[in-house]
Formats: sequence, structure tokens, C-alpha cells
Amino acid sequence: MGNRKVKLEWDDGSSSEFHYIWLRDNCACDECKHPDAWERLLDNVELNLDIRPTHLEFGDALEVEWDDGHQTSLSADWLRKNAMAGTGEMLVERHQLCGTPG
Ligand SMILES: [Zn+2]
Repeated sequence: MGNRKVKLEWDDGSSSEFHYIWLRDNCACDECKHPDAWERLLDNVELNLDIRPTHLEFGDALEVEWDDGHQTSLSADWLRKNAMAGTGEMLVERHQLCGTPG
């Protein structure tokens, strides 16, 4: 298991960790943003659990370039607000449960 998280440091010196998969799942680009909640659910199932960024840049927004060529941009404000959700293992656990027979 490699490191599958990115640690972001905030202006006040605190920091939060975000799973790559969570960041990818929360991509809000036109391609990923579906108005229909069911479509998003289906997308989650096909999400690549081993996805990794090839490039990371953090300023007013976190800019990520993934190894599948996709690009994600999430504003720092939004990330900070959602930091609690992004640090949990819940998403990964849910995927593992789905993939385990019995
Ligand atoms: Zn996207």
C-alpha cells in the first residue's frame, strides 16, 4: 500500500489529509458533475481505487492531474469545509465491502 493521501496545510498552520480517491470522486468538472444522483452512484462503482496524481499544485485551489489524464480542480475553501469527509476511510471501506463476495 503506498501513500494514497495528500496532506494540505492551511493558512492557520493546521492541516488536513485527503484521499486521492475522495478527491477524484469529488471532481466537479463538467465531465464528472452529474445532475442525477444515481448517475454519480454508478460512477463511484467504476472508480479506480489505485488512482494516483501525476501532478499536484495547491494555491487558491488544489489542482490535480491524474495518471489517467483527468484533471481536477477543487477550491481551497471548499476543501477546508469538506475536510472531515475527505479524511475518513469510509469511501474506501464501502468499495471493499462491495467487492467481497459473501
Ligand atoms: Zn472531472
